[in-house]
Amino acid sequence: QAVPAPPAMAEAAMAARVPPDEDGDECLPQYRHLLSPDLLEGQVAFITGGGSGIGFRIAEIFMRHGCRTVIASRNLQRVSEASKKLVAATGQQCLPLSIDVRQPQTIAAAVDEALKEFKRIDILINGAAGNFLCPASALSFNAFKTVIDIDTIGTFNTSKVLFEKYFRDHGGVIVNITATLSYRGQALQVHAGAAKAAIDAMTRHLAVEWGPNNIRVNSLAPGPITGTEGFRRLGGKFAEKSKQFAGIPLQRAGNKTEIAHSTLYLASPLSSYVTGTTLVVDGGSWLTSPNSFSALLGIASSSAK
Ligand code: NAP
Repeated sequence: QAVPAPPAMAEAAMAARVPPDEDGDECLPQYRHLLSPDLLEGQVAFITGGGSGIGFRIAEIFMRHGCRTVIASRNLQRVSEASKKLVAATGQQCLPLSIDVRQPQTIAAAVDEALKEFKRIDILINGAAGNFLCPASALSFNAFKTVIDIDTIGTFNTSKVLFEKYFRDHGGVIVNITATLSYRGQALQVHAGAAKAAIDAMTRHLAVEWGPNNIRVNSLAPGPITGTEGFRRLGGKFAEKSKQFAGIPLQRAGNKTEIAHSTLYLASPLSSYVTGTTLVVDGGSWLTSPNSFSALLGIASSSAK
């Protein structure tokens, strides 16, 4: 008969299995490869939102696996500083570029510059997004539209530009970073939930239409992820303090390294026959999410402080 491990032992074993992360937009001081360091050797990834949070860690982990990266968002200073850190930590090339995913011409100019520099783009990560907690009744028409513009239309714009300029003729891999918000109609999240659900639909449509061009398209839906702007804005610390994460099957929030590892799987030949799907990376969170309107209103007012 199996004897349950004492809590201290179980904790140590768990700690050993959870890859370490750094808070804020800093590279990992140490990194232990779980996969071959040359997994993405010779490849180039174009990562929107790559200057911060989850996108930054995806860039780092890809670069630690031999990939060169383009990190692109509105704030050139932010991506330039991020690029310096990424190059110093990994020794790979990283090109920082300014784009607004709502403006196709800025994406086209950035993709031209990336192709001039690297001559190829193999992977597109659509990570750019905006979010905040707000009840539908208080959400302005414009706020709803802005989130759809950045998340959904921005993902379409970037995918289409990459398709026309490179993927149509050379194939490629697209990973859209979405969310689980719509699965249970998360309170205070009608804007982001609707935007991300539309992206998951887009993932399936584009996987079907672009499969014959040797383009794989998948979504990755993270749960609550520590050390991110999203976590701070959506009340992660509040949830941590009030022990809400004890309700998550894996009993904790996830970290950016874990999201980057799952993205690495979807972007690499490890998933060569996977397309049109959404990989949920949330510790089982959405299955047990309390989705309490009044508790989330408490978070909204406390995180606004
Ligand atoms: P973040 O650091 O705020 O990342 C968002 C990025 O998008 C920023 O780098 C921002 O850079 C860029 N961006 C925003 N608007 C843009 C625009 N119009 N054009 C180009 N870039 C734009 O947030 P994060 O929490 O790491 O989230 C990363 C992704 O994971 C998002 O898609 C988010 O929805 C998803 N996600 C996060 C969590 C979480 O717990 N954190 C959970 C589920 C899903 P600029 O300001 O320089 O433009």
